[in-house]
Amino acid sequence: MTHSFTDKMNEEVLEDKTTQRLHSRLLEISEIGRTKDDGANRMGYADLELKAKDKVVKWMKAIGMSVRVDGAGNVFGRYRGKDDSKVYMAGSHVDTVPNGGHFDGVAGVLTALEIAELWYEEAYIPEYSYEVVIFTDEEGSRFGSSLTGSRSFMRLIEDAELDKFRDPDGLTADQVFENIESTREEFLNGEGPDYPIRVYGEIHIEQGKQLEQKGLSTGIVNGIAGTTRTHVVFTGTAGHAGSTPMTGRSDALVAASEFISTLPGVPKSISDSAVATVGKIEVTPNGVNVIPGKVELIVDARDIDETQQGQLIQAVRKHAENIAEQSSVSVETDMMTRVKPIPAAPEIISKMETSFKRNAHLPVHLPSGAGHDAMNIARAHPMTMLFVRSIGGISHNPAEFSHISDIRDAALILKDFFENYD
Ligand SMILES: [Zn+2]
Repeated sequence: MTHSFTDKMNEEVLEDKTTQRLHSRLLEISEIGRTKDDGANRMGYADLELKAKDKVVKWMKAIGMSVRVDGAGNVFGRYRGKDDSKVYMAGSHVDTVPNGGHFDGVAGVLTALEIAELWYEEAYIPEYSYEVVIFTDEEGSRFGSSLTGSRSFMRLIEDAELDKFRDPDGLTADQVFENIESTREEFLNGEGPDYPIRVYGEIHIEQGKQLEQKGLSTGIVNGIAGTTRTHVVFTGTAGHAGSTPMTGRSDALVAASEFISTLPGVPKSISDSAVATVGKIEVTPNGVNVIPGKVELIVDARDIDETQQGQLIQAVRKHAENIAEQSSVSVETDMMTRVKPIPAAPEIISKMETSFKRNAHLPVHLPSGAGHDAMNIARAHPMTMLFVRSIGGISHNPAEFSHISDIRDAALILKDFFENYD
């Protein structure tokens, strides 16, 4: 694609103060860790992530917000409300995947800040204090994990997991924490579960095409899919590619290929929100002239409803067994990970629908296939999420783009939501 992020930003129509501010701030952040492909590279806990946070902190302080940082490096900027005993909270992250886009995460942080910014200009005091949060290392690029800042905040990471963490340079979690002037103890001691969050809101780019197809700028997330990972091993018989006749072969890769190519039908049979993907495969012995004796692959399957998620896991397993039986190979399946889906609470969705209507927007619902910091907060607190239209559904890529006016629409709706939440 020749049309770069910079070109696209230059063409944006900035019709009001909010779009102008979001546009210029997004550009400023985008300069931190800009790659040669016009993408973003800000790894969690790295200096570039800190630099992006510092920039936001500077903006927070300019409107009188008080700022603190916790043991995971999560940043909290507080705008005082009438009652300071509880907070409305909104935010996201500023780290990126390697050579990622400029909107994933940043859109959520800048819109959260924009709400405070508008209140400041209107001299509006919200019912409760309002916190803008920047969660550290959402993408998990540092340790090959995910959502580490919000999981620390909600005390969802244990000692044993930290022991296994190694960053791309081989640094341990403790060494990395030292860089951000924190310790393992502080990291493990997140305040989130007891934190007085009245409601948490997160704006995020959709990373899909549904809003674009519907011609809408923003929509309500009705649930965050829970990821499951199933390890599948097809075992056949390795043999010489030349001297073994075609009849009677037990080729593990032929079976695995059939399994993968017919897998898309499986989630379709469960629900509209179910998805299943094979993105990792290992062939043994992996030689040009050897019939593959063993294939290991991982099925990533997700849905936003726990019952459907269970049915999906069963269906994936059954599908593997059926293929193995037809292909005279054996199969073993083992579920490695199962994260519970997070449905959005109906009463919060209904409040959000009212905010959509007040802002003359159609309150469309859509599921989130990807995990977000919001799902961790939702373990203990009311949560809502809005998606913003992604152009072409592209994300985790320098070509990722959302129109500033679409981001503005979501910000104004979330602002209205907090003002009327009570
Ligand atoms: Zn994100």
